[in-house]
Amino acid sequence: MLIGVPLETSRGETRVAVTPETAKKLVGQGHRLQVETGAGVAASATDAAYTAAGCEITDKAGAFGAELVLKVRSPDANELALMKPGTFLVGMLNPFDAAGLAAIAAAGVTAFALEAAPRTTRAQSMDVLSSQANIAGYKAVIVAADRYQRFFPMLMTAAGTVKAARVVVLGVGVAGLQAIATAKRLGAVIEASDVRPSVKEQVESLGAKFIDVPYETAEEKEAAEGVGGYARPMPPSWLERQKVEVAKRVAQADVVISTALIPGRAAPVLITEEMVRSMKPGSVIVDLAAGKGADGVGGNCPLTEADRTVVKHGVTLVGETNLPALVAADASALYARNVLDFLKLVLPKDGAFTVPMDDDIVAACLVAQSGEVRRK
Ligand code: NAD
Repeated sequence: MLIGVPLETSRGETRVAVTPETAKKLVGQGHRLQVETGAGVAASATDAAYTAAGCEITDKAGAFGAELVLKVRSPDANELALMKPGTFLVGMLNPFDAAGLAAIAAAGVTAFALEAAPRTTRAQSMDVLSSQANIAGYKAVIVAADRYQRFFPMLMTAAGTVKAARVVVLGVGVAGLQAIATAKRLGAVIEASDVRPSVKEQVESLGAKFIDVPYETAEEKEAAEGVGGYARPMPPSWLERQKVEVAKRVAQADVVISTALIPGRAAPVLITEEMVRSMKPGSVIVDLAAGKGADGVGGNCPLTEADRTVVKHGVTLVGETNLPALVAADASALYARNVLDFLKLVLPKDGAFTVPMDDDIVAACLVAQSGEVRRK
């Protein structure tokens, strides 16, 4: 099959959907790859490396003109115009972006959004949310350490003792767990909060303290169990008690990493302006939910500004919305392996693309076919 790998053009996007490593495997399976000039350069993959892997280097029209196009982000209108009806597309296409999916469907493209894969054991090797969130959690701490004007570890020096940084992690999914692990390696003292009770043990196993907010009603307990491993919106009664506990920790924190999300909904507000005011000057908040707040601008903190770093009330708020793109080479390497694993379900060796709807992963990821959006 003719496979196209375009250069990503979304602002700040440095990742690429196929690396020379995965390209070599696809070529070995009998496919022909057309990689756009410079597609991997920002992720440390040169055109020469793709050529050595057996790919042809082409222009934008060549990459989008393939039978199967492998992308990181959704194609824009100009890119869609280069795709023939009947083209197959695999990428992180944002299954909650109704307008974006409608445009893809209108172009007659058969599209698969990898973020929609179920969080099951079989889907783990193609779980792009996990592979990228893991990187985001790591980089969030590195960015925070860079912005923070003090040490993370406790240090005893001849010039005196330096206290360890206090880090609070809000939302302990894949990104939050990696943030805890990374902050721990740097020597911080960490406390973490999540709505899901199963998280407590994981937090403690990483050497952090769980901020306990007991469930007082059956409704609270049921909501906290979530659905499919994901959180559901918690009743206001629980959120109020969580706010009191979180506010105490945030006031003492040097660094807050917030990652709390509920799929398909606005990010919950966990750090109010009042809490930001209570923080010490020089403290840092890295808000991974930036741009996902109710207004589409704020995140877990309403003062966060998407894709900007701002100082408010003496606190530095980092609103970087694409932290994995700051670790482009490894983020691409892991994403490209996720893509390769997904292709095993739809693209047999040497064969034509198939859409086996009896496969739960394929069925969940299919977002556009025959001019129709397949999910909302
Ligand atoms: P996510 O990015 O959707 O959300 C991040 C975290 O925010 C979650 O832990 C969520 O519980 C938390 N959160 C939501 N509202 C909150 C609030 N008000 N206060 C505090 N925290 C709040 O989550 P994710 O990283 O995508 O992980 C979702 C789930 O999927 C987790 O249970 C994870 O363990 C699971 N998972 C399973 C597999 C698998 O089995 N293959 C793979 C990856 C992840």
